[in-house]
Amino acid sequence: MVAEIISVGTELLLGQIVDTNAAYLGRTLAGLGVDLYYKSTVGDNEGRVLDTLSRARSRADLILTSGGLGPTEDDLTKECIAQVFGEDLVLHEPSLEELEAFFARRGVPMPPRNRKQALIYRHGRPIPNPNGTAPGALLEKDGVITISLPGPPNELIPMVENHVAPFLTERLSGTRQFLVTRVLRFIGIGESALEQEVLDLLHGTNPTLAPLAHTGEVHLRMGAKAASVEEAETLLAPLEEEIRRRAGRYLYGTNSTLLEDAVVTLLRERGLTAATAEGCTGGLLGGRLTQSDPAENVVLGGFVTPGPAALTGILGLSPELIDRHGIVSGPVAEAMADAARRRAGADIGVAITGQAGPDGGGARGLVLVGLAQSDRTTHSEHHCIGIRDTVRRRATQLALQQLREALLDV
Ligand code: ATP
Ligand code: MG
Repeated sequence: MVAEIISVGTELLLGQIVDTNAAYLGRTLAGLGVDLYYKSTVGDNEGRVLDTLSRARSRADLILTSGGLGPTEDDLTKECIAQVFGEDLVLHEPSLEELEAFFARRGVPMPPRNRKQALIYRHGRPIPNPNGTAPGALLEKDGVITISLPGPPNELIPMVENHVAPFLTERLSGTRQFLVTRVLRFIGIGESALEQEVLDLLHGTNPTLAPLAHTGEVHLRMGAKAASVEEAETLLAPLEEEIRRRAGRYLYGTNSTLLEDAVVTLLRERGLTAATAEGCTGGLLGGRLTQSDPAENVVLGGFVTPGPAALTGILGLSPELIDRHGIVSGPVAEAMADAARRRAGADIGVAITGQAGPDGGGARGLVLVGLAQSDRTTHSEHHCIGIRDTVRRRATQLALQQLREALLDV
């Protein structure tokens, strides 16, 4: 089954409201295994609503509309659907009674123009809406199911949950497809390099594979469709295995696993502890690690040392070292990491020193990551591009990546 969503409302085009209905409907359809190829937004304009509906009718088996079921002149969704499908709108007595009861409960007389909300297709049926005046409307004609829902989300969502989703589930029974997706998360490999590794796998249709870029990491989303969740998972398994074979070293986790969680897990598995020292990131790295390890099992401490006073006073670095190399330098990064390690009594020290750059686009940030273990210290140098927040975030990504790589080699 191929679906199309049409959101009707000029205020959506003007950006006055965000189209949360389309996002919700999209998620619901995905959960039901219904393919969604297009979603459109159209203003309250008869000609353009007719156009949009005709196009959807030519390429979808299921059309879901939201909005335009109200009592006013510019509410014209049902009228347009009736026109496109050559259908009459007739007064639906039970819906009219419900409308009258709705107004009676509020103690106000029903305005005559609300009558039009009780108009339903001659060959269709209403969808009850206990939270508003406008019932939804369902029409099944010429092999196309059209379902119209009111715009307010507090009305639309319960109607989908109580009527539309069960209706579609029944329709799909036997042919129902389950979509299972799984995200593989990589660090330490660029988007294009990873894409190169899996290029031949990107063209599959079932399972599918798609790259997604994030700040300082890359994800691959795998998706498979089958008659059952188990079958879909069986389709995903060999794909995942192949990707792991090619790029497994960079794969740190799946689905919602965070990089800091993966690093804390590695520390635990190796029976090692870590400590941090941070200049330009001011504790962001420590924040991420301690969020994953709140009980201080493996992250023993962190030092925030934004300038020379803190570097000498808190970490005990020598002023000569700082003078000779500058704060943002490899030797200082290594000395910070080693001092953090010693002062916290940890196995590994990780340090960040850098220039996060001025605010505003395009600033260039030099970031040094220092790493210290009992028998050696190392550092790496990076040039991060972006505004201050991006550089700081990237710097923590780089530090976690270096720590992860050191742990993989232990
Ligand atoms: P009403 O009977 O209230 O007029 P309607 O079916 O005619 O409902 P609209 O007039 O298009 O729907 O929208 C009514 C309200 O519903 C909007 O002001 C907005 O708050 C909300 N709404 C409409 N469409 C959407 C949407 N796509 N996503 C989120 N909210 C929406
Ligand atoms: Mg309206």
